[in-house]
Amino acid sequence: FAITMDQLQLYEDLGKGNYGTVKKVLHKPTNVAMAMKEIRLELDQAKLNAIIMELDILHRAVAPEIVEFYGAFFIESCVYYCMEYMDAGSMDKLQTYGSDNPLLPSDSSPPDGEPAPFLRKRTGGVPEVVLARVVGSMTRGLGFLKDELQIIHRDVKPTNVLVNRRGQVKLCDFGVSGQLEKSLAKTNIGCQSYMAPERIRSESLHTSPTYTVSSDVWSLGLSTIEMALGHYPYPPETYSNVFAQLTAIVHGDPPELPDGFSDAAKDWVSRCMVKRAEDRASYQELLKHPFLQQDRTRTVDMVGWVARALENRDRMHKEKEDQNGSS
Ligand code: ATP
Ligand code: MG
Repeated sequence: FAITMDQLQLYEDLGKGNYGTVKKVLHKPTNVAMAMKEIRLELDQAKLNAIIMELDILHRAVAPEIVEFYGAFFIESCVYYCMEYMDAGSMDKLQTYGSDNPLLPSDSSPPDGEPAPFLRKRTGGVPEVVLARVVGSMTRGLGFLKDELQIIHRDVKPTNVLVNRRGQVKLCDFGVSGQLEKSLAKTNIGCQSYMAPERIRSESLHTSPTYTVSSDVWSLGLSTIEMALGHYPYPPETYSNVFAQLTAIVHGDPPELPDGFSDAAKDWVSRCMVKRAEDRASYQELLKHPFLQQDRTRTVDMVGWVARALENRDRMHKEKEDQNGSS
């Protein structure tokens, strides 16, 4: 069936990216909650039609680790894209609220001059058993896209890893439409780059992109470190300008998992964070690695972890509101 705008009841915004807004919507004929992404493009009808046709391949991307695609349509120069609504949001937020030690006592008032607890820089991200589960899903999802659909993701990062309250972890926003990719290209490099060194090099030299599946493996490793730390891995002084940051990625030593993680986890990440693309691990190797093998035989309370992370989020939002209200 084809989805149309008049079948949708619009709810709240779920987030904003570089290219548009994602809204929660209700598909009235089926009573299914969906996430609708709006992408503004200045394109003619033919190109918009081409994008809608290319997105159709998403109907074949059906796997437990991939966010379900329901359909796309355009109105004027906007493409609307409807997908499975993931009610716990993306890992970039869960990683900060789902840490082992996220909770600074909420009743203790901060010393003079210190930021309030919820504003303090947080330590710790996702605990290892949860990390292994999340990263295992990501690796299987990426392997599925490559093996079954010959798709390279091209945008692996924590905001594109979605979670629901059932504890499922799924990937979204992978590159299936060449026309869409071309239309979005270069509008924004973003200040936090997940691009592999070879990709940064080829973009800065304006040579044809040397994007292969192993470029996604780098982004997978970098996302893993980010989720483990609870923040983007390259040191803050390189955030300040895009050039310094890209230089650090291309010329610096690759980041590693912090202490406190097992040797297996550290080794797994180091197999992703290899600067020479040809030497990086394949998905098959990553799946056979002890770090992900251990995960297969372990029970992990993902449902409980997600619930606690969301509770933390709601409590911290409330504290922030109360603080704003009383000051
Ligand atoms: P970029 O524009 O660089 O891709 P992004 O991934 O953060 O960055 P969007 O893809 O537009 O931007 O998504 C914005 C936010 O909306 C995400 O960070 C995520 O939290 C939320 N979101 C996206 N898709 C869904 C979904 N299917 N279910 C629930 N929340 C979603
Ligand atoms: Mg996204």
